[in-house]
Amino acid sequence: MKWKKHYMLTGELVSSKRGKHVKTKSLILREDFQIELLGYLRSIPDVQRKPSKLARHIHTSFLFRFADENTPVVPVCSKTVKRWMLMLGFEKRIHKKNYYVDGHEREDVKAYRQEFVDKMLGNDEKGIRGYCSRMVTYADDPGDKATNRPPQERFLPIPPELNGGEKRIVFVVHDESIFYSNDATKIIWTRCEDLNSLRPKSNGKSLMVSGLMCSCHGFLCGEISTNGVSRTVKSYKIIKPGKNKDGYWKNKDLVAQVEDCIPLFEAIHPNCEMLFAFDNSQNHHAAPPDALKVSKFTLNDKKQTIKDPILLRDTQFIDSEGNIVQQTFYKNDGTVIKGIKEVLEERGLWDQVANLGKRGGKLMTCEHCSNTKRTMDDPITNCCATRMLAVQPDFAETTEWMEEVIVSKGHHIIFFPKFHCELNYIEMVWAYMKSDTRENCTFDFDNLCARVENLLENGIPLSTIRKFEERCFRFMHGYQLNLAGPLLDYAVKKYTSHRMFPSSFVVEEFEQLYQDHLKSKKTVGKN
Ligand SMILES: [Zn+2]
Ligand SMILES: [Zn+2]
Repeated sequence: MKWKKHYMLTGELVSSKRGKHVKTKSLILREDFQIELLGYLRSIPDVQRKPSKLARHIHTSFLFRFADENTPVVPVCSKTVKRWMLMLGFEKRIHKKNYYVDGHEREDVKAYRQEFVDKMLGNDEKGIRGYCSRMVTYADDPGDKATNRPPQERFLPIPPELNGGEKRIVFVVHDESIFYSNDATKIIWTRCEDLNSLRPKSNGKSLMVSGLMCSCHGFLCGEISTNGVSRTVKSYKIIKPGKNKDGYWKNKDLVAQVEDCIPLFEAIHPNCEMLFAFDNSQNHHAAPPDALKVSKFTLNDKKQTIKDPILLRDTQFIDSEGNIVQQTFYKNDGTVIKGIKEVLEERGLWDQVANLGKRGGKLMTCEHCSNTKRTMDDPITNCCATRMLAVQPDFAETTEWMEEVIVSKGHHIIFFPKFHCELNYIEMVWAYMKSDTRENCTFDFDNLCARVENLLENGIPLSTIRKFEERCFRFMHGYQLNLAGPLLDYAVKKYTSHRMFPSSFVVEEFEQLYQDHLKSKKTVGKN
């Protein structure tokens, strides 16, 4: 390595090397050039280390120095640079979005996750029979790959063992995703001289899909007849957001979609109960529009507004003699909403707060309640009229719209833990669809719409959906076994044939296996 020292001292190449190379020898085979290039590449942050960007700089900064009478140095293209980089041991990696971020391992999120997986998979110690034990499972026999069985015949259903009176559960997952008309594949193979097609810089027009799917059928589409009128119902909805389009998608739209789809799921899965699973967003926990809230009232009667009417469901309360009494909050044919005063009078509770105003306190909302809201376990109930009504059982009960719609039809609802997209297989379905739309991107919105619609209708193989679902269940099982991070990733990848890890699975032994795997990876990397 004499020349290196020489080079570092003088900035010149050892002259004796010149001319000794075979004329056709590529520059990259010269060790001196390799070292120069390697040093240069390492000096650049990995995110900027793109062959296309480096080509020009390599030429202007040091390539010219390697020219001699035998090897005229011509400008290099990114393809050459890429080849050089591959030879120097660089490789292109897709930087995976790490899902162990933010609140993934936050204590409250972990506690909720534990609760979630127990509900899903069951927990013998806690005496919970999981939803999963009432579902059809799909097993991919490892032999299937070897026998070349066509994919549509793989992941065949295994029916659950039901106890007397139990119904089969169908796991229905929901999620929303946005597709952009200019979202084309980022990785392209092209010749340098062909590199002249410019791409639009913006994302382009977008469409949103809100979908509900099961792993037995995928996205659903079917005929439903209500009151003798037959109509087509789809379990997915395509929304084109933005101005002058279908408008923005709100929680009430999702509730309407779910309500619309329940008869479809019931028709396609006779004698089954559905378990609908949603993101744990605040939006999905919203109260029904006619929920009983004190904030909707004034002390005395008020006129109903026609434009944005206040909705209040009828209710019932138990009077002092123990009778159940029905109560409605409207009067004069619905044009007037009763005031809190009248509502409390009807319930025989007005006397407890009537004197507050005279004593100098605020009758409607006391100072304390207008500043800090008292909690439900706060024993003071008669500080003001608002508080008096708020603590009544029908007002105190929290109702969620989505839950109400689903449970009232005899089905179930569950919310995925926050930050855990790896547990909802529809996320993988979106990714599958996006890789298709990216590859077939023509930068045209109508084409995107058609492509997405086609994929939703029948473009996703059931075996793929089932494979995705099994993977999510393995994640759940891993969390139940207290695996996390890269160890869990490795376990999920290793046991691909079933939804649960085998009964022979011992966490400690597996940890050892994982450590061995890491060591072997390191030695492979060194060689
Ligand atoms: Zn199904
Ligand atoms: Zn109060």
